Amino acid sequence: MKQEPIIINNYIDGVFQNSAQGLTMPLINPATASSYGTMPLSRVEDVDLAYMAAYKAFPGWSSLSAAQRSTILLCIAEGIESRAEELSLAECIDNGKPLTLAQKVDIPRAATNMRFFAQAITQFANESYNEPEYINYTLRQPIGVVGCISPWNLPLYLFTWKIAPALATGNTVVAKPSETTPYTAYLFSEICMAAGLPAGVLNVLHGTGAECGNAIVSHPGIKAISFTGGTATGKHISSIAAPMFKKLSLELGGKNPNIIFDDCEYETMLHTTLQSSFSNQGQICLCGSRIYVQRGIYEKFKKDFVAKATALKVGNPLSQDTKVGAIVSLEHYNKILSYIKLAKQEGGHILCGGHAVHPEGEYSNGYFIAPTVIEGLSNSCRTNQEEIFGPVVTLTPFDTEQEVMALANDSIYGLSATIWTQQLDRAHRMAKLIEAGIVWINCWLHRDLRTPFGGMKSSGVGREGGLEALRFFTEPKNVCIKID
Ligand code: NAD
Repeated sequence: MKQEPIIINNYIDGVFQNSAQGLTMPLINPATASSYGTMPLSRVEDVDLAYMAAYKAFPGWSSLSAAQRSTILLCIAEGIESRAEELSLAECIDNGKPLTLAQKVDIPRAATNMRFFAQAITQFANESYNEPEYINYTLRQPIGVVGCISPWNLPLYLFTWKIAPALATGNTVVAKPSETTPYTAYLFSEICMAAGLPAGVLNVLHGTGAECGNAIVSHPGIKAISFTGGTATGKHISSIAAPMFKKLSLELGGKNPNIIFDDCEYETMLHTTLQSSFSNQGQICLCGSRIYVQRGIYEKFKKDFVAKATALKVGNPLSQDTKVGAIVSLEHYNKILSYIKLAKQEGGHILCGGHAVHPEGEYSNGYFIAPTVIEGLSNSCRTNQEEIFGPVVTLTPFDTEQEVMALANDSIYGLSATIWTQQLDRAHRMAKLIEAGIVWINCWLHRDLRTPFGGMKSSGVGREGGLEALRFFTEPKNVCIKID
């Protein structure tokens, strides 16, 4: 049976509508390389409409009590859960990720984001300092209309990670998901409407970064920008927003080291390293793409890891046993393949993968790449320095702690790092010295939403998560009263 095309619309002032100029672009399923619908191509005039709606809605929304806003956000969390199967399938079609991953991670986490910030806002306290002559207290007030711009790798998960704290703190929002994966953000707008979120409080626009994203960042009335995406885009956004003195949160790219010492708990490390290398086709900002292995276990690790990587099933994202789905777009697929070519030119030896995969039948034109493991490269080569953001990792042996620390920190990025060792003192020493905003020791991707999330160096500015996010989306105002 042929599916009806999906028509995605903007959500402005509580109404679904096309872009003002009626322009659209096709939606592509990367697993089949075929179009399954259209989305609006929004421009400056659509951003103006969304801004006006958010501006009008701000006084009402910001004057609700924290408990009232919390109740609506909890309804949105329930709405996500009640439509979880539909959202998971939409994420899979739009992004190419295995359906099982969307079911287990992306969609439950989107609901958790809403629920977490719904609860957090009811616990958010103001500072107060009491002295004999003076009392100081700090008001934390919403900023006004804020912009939230998210990427394609974890579409609904990262979209809600920004929107939830922005709304919880009383701001109104103009949000833009990636044009590569807009489907679940559209369904999310329906869920917000059904949950009773007042019109204009959240406005979801669809369009390209160059036009719609740029118009959000440049809009003089939008007071803060929370952005997750590539480092080059973050730099461009800063160049516009910083001179306008907008509050900025930038969660950018990474090239994360995964450091494995001889004394690690081997089986857990091996299993987790497979995940930290190839989950979501290696398209998670926290994936460890530079794997450093201490010399004593290097050859064993290489053999075991390559065998496991080769055995991962690549193909139909809907199939229950698929571990590696499609790369998100043709452009990104070509970029990853060009990096594999570069790695060979730089003298890298491909231990497994290194090529596109063409499954049988309707998936034969999809954008699939085999999990790829490369060794024999210098730390300074482009393959080891630039973010590839695909199912491609490099292996490098090392001897000493000092040597691997230097290798790990020799990067413009500083998002996350993983360390595998049983030596407690070494683990703490490494965690302290490593230049990364997030460090995992003997684990990977365990996320407690109360913890600060973000990177240093070219991986970003500011932190998301827990109190950090509530602080970002509020303006502190200190009040000092003389009492004596
Ligand atoms: P991207 O920078 O191309 O796009 C991200 C978003 O920004 C999209 O919505 C896009 O439309 C928009 N955009 C693009 N140009 C813009 C402009 N000039 N003005 C305003 N908005 C603009 O990134 P991507 O390719 O979608 O995502 C992959 C990147 O995201 C990788 O670098 C990855 O490391 C990074 N990422 C970082 C984190 C993190 O938490 N640090 C999380 C996920 C992804």
